[in-house]
Amino acid sequence: MNAFAETMLDVARVRSDFPILEREVHGKPLIYLDNAATSQTPSAVIDTLDDYYRRYNANIHRGLHTLADEATAAYEGTREKVRAWLGAASHREIVFTRGTTEAINLVANSWGRANLRPGDEIIVSLMEHHSNIVPWQMLAEALDVTLKVIPVDERGVLDQAAYRDMLGERTRLVCVNHVSNALGTVNPVAEMARAAHEHGALILVDGAQAVPHQRVDVQALDVDFYAFSGHKAYGPTGVGVLYGREALLEAMPPWQGGGEMISRVSFEKGTVYSEIPHKFEAGTPAIAEVIALGAALDWIADTGIDLMAAWEHHLLERATDKLQAVDGLRMIGTAPDKVSVLSFVVDGAHSQDIGLLIDQLGVAIRTGHHCAQPMLASMGLDATCRASLAAYNTPEEVDAFVEALQKVIAMVR
Ligand code: PLP
Repeated sequence: MNAFAETMLDVARVRSDFPILEREVHGKPLIYLDNAATSQTPSAVIDTLDDYYRRYNANIHRGLHTLADEATAAYEGTREKVRAWLGAASHREIVFTRGTTEAINLVANSWGRANLRPGDEIIVSLMEHHSNIVPWQMLAEALDVTLKVIPVDERGVLDQAAYRDMLGERTRLVCVNHVSNALGTVNPVAEMARAAHEHGALILVDGAQAVPHQRVDVQALDVDFYAFSGHKAYGPTGVGVLYGREALLEAMPPWQGGGEMISRVSFEKGTVYSEIPHKFEAGTPAIAEVIALGAALDWIADTGIDLMAAWEHHLLERATDKLQAVDGLRMIGTAPDKVSVLSFVVDGAHSQDIGLLIDQLGVAIRTGHHCAQPMLASMGLDATCRASLAAYNTPEEVDAFVEALQKVIAMVR
């Protein structure tokens, strides 16, 4: 598989699509290993943004002129691309948001407020990003709903037995990430969805870290809601997606009110909302960014998601082997099924010092709590160093990163 990946992905060609990879940082070639925070953007996406503003910048859905038609067609064209990418049954199930965070807040405020009653239960996992914790905490407080938390073992794997024990007749919703941003653990969401449904509960999956790294099929997974962000999947910032089952979205009230989400507004007769998905897209959306998200999905499709995944797996194994050989380094998150993320701590060295010093050597990694404070706290940690991979990274970069890390460790110890 490794040899296969190495021969099949033309990483030099992939890299040539990313102008930013040519830059230097502190006089050293950039080695960008902060992809879980934000991935870099291929020229095709940058050009799509540029083309929109140069040729057909116009507001969508309302205009009768050519530019408005072109912008609307491109915007709605991306909806169809996202539908196909996620394997959704209908474009009506695809809502554009500002990102994963807004998608989750939409479900909390719309579905949650309409359906939850005091004493109901929401299950979240301990390894969630804060964006899949805090909206549920806010809701729990407002509606007197109980939050239950699925524990994580020392490898960074969710305790499935504990999860099944938690499911009960008051469970209404399960919230879990597909891939953990702090550890890279891939969670068995299809199995978790089945268990939730057996108890009459819904499942919301945070796919922010899955969509850039593996194939996702919401129908095969049989999930009710699925969210992701453009900027982690080679797309622009400011745009994300909420997939929701058609019948659920139909029944949910709008979350925000304004233009675009209505079919008629009247003081006398009341307001009639638009059909889904427009009911959930109040105001002028991030038109250019949505269209450029379509270009990002095209780029991934052209490059080949399976090839990218195999390549990244090869890099992950290489980096894991090399890091494990570093004196005093402890990997955080050793799940058998993981992608992209290498989280670690080093005896006698603060993660932040490592992050700052390794930047001086041109290597971008992330240090801190990765918006997963509850899980890190359960592991007795307040920070880790996190290197995260994308398809444009190379074995040479992995080696240079580990070499730079060893230099830094020698400096700070
Ligand atoms: N969920 C996960 C797993 C993430 O990694 C992130 C971002 O780091 C988010 C949610 C939030 O994404 P955004 O800030 O794009 O809304």
